Amino acid sequence: AKRDGKNGFQYFDSITRKEVEVANTIRRDLRVALENGQFFLCYQPLVDIKTGKVASMEALLRWQHPKKGLISPIHFIPIAEETRQIISIGEWMLRTACRQMKEWLNMGYSGFSVSVNVSVHQLQQPDFAKVVLDILNEIDLEPRFLELEITETVLIEAMDTVARNLYRLKEVGVKIIIDDFGTENSSFKYIQKFMVDGLKIDRSFVSNIKVEVNKAIVDAIIFLGHRMKLGVTAEGVETKEQLDYLVESGCDKVQGYYFSKPLPPDEAIRMVQKECNY
Ligand code: C2E
Ligand code: CA
Ligand code: CA
Ligand code: CA
Repeated sequence: AKRDGKNGFQYFDSITRKEVEVANTIRRDLRVALENGQFFLCYQPLVDIKTGKVASMEALLRWQHPKKGLISPIHFIPIAEETRQIISIGEWMLRTACRQMKEWLNMGYSGFSVSVNVSVHQLQQPDFAKVVLDILNEIDLEPRFLELEITETVLIEAMDTVARNLYRLKEVGVKIIIDDFGTENSSFKYIQKFMVDGLKIDRSFVSNIKVEVNKAIVDAIIFLGHRMKLGVTAEGVETKEQLDYLVESGCDKVQGYYFSKPLPPDEAIRMVQKECNY
């Protein structure tokens, strides 16, 4: 490679070095982030197209780093998965989201559930279902108010443990949604085997819905999803055009900046009407 500071290699090198540095900082600081209370959750509504009401609130993890400021989960979740810290962070997430849901119910809000993203590493823990059930018990939250978002890889890896966990949770009424549907080795075989409750179409198809092939993919997912009696959600809806297409295609729920960005709980809840039955 050339040594000239202006050549591509040099440039590439410095970017990678910077990235490695950032990753190392994240790896080091992540160890104390949980105990030092640096995580918090934002919530983004999923809107039911038929009723126009909030059907659920997706909890999304945020890390307030003392020096680097807000760090996106796309930068630290892969590292937390690699170091297995996702297991304790994930448990904290579940407990915090369930507590928030309980608080909303106590405040008189209802008609929606809370959705929590669950990593494959969590589902591979033999005691995962028990952890979830204990949290629900401890908080006194009915399981039907909890929805778990898992990715398709979860269904392919470590099938036995994952299956046992999912069956135990489904049995009591926790709902299971396949996130980012269409991006992995989408197989309706697994969807059927695990009797999931819904599919969430990945943002990449929604963002590029102007491109014909994406329309075809979206239509196919909605058609097959409905034939299998699954609810179909589309994520990453930003424009009226995207929304119109999804409504016309019979999509059940929509989520995205068009409705709301992920917000702190007090702001997120403003999209939900209080039940006026008191
Ligand atoms: P995801 O589950 O697919 O979440 C959707 C992501 O898209 C969120 O990014 C959200 O802020 C963003 N988003 C929502 N609507 C729009 C839109 O209209 N336009 C655009 N451009 N983006 C939109 P976020 O919060 O940065 O999360 C990124 C990913 O990190 C999530 O993707 C999820 O895979 C993961 N993640 C977040 N929180 C958790 C968690 O608590 N546990 C685990 N295991 N993963 C999490
Ligand atoms: Ca998700
Ligand atoms: Ca998603
Ligand atoms: Ca996605």
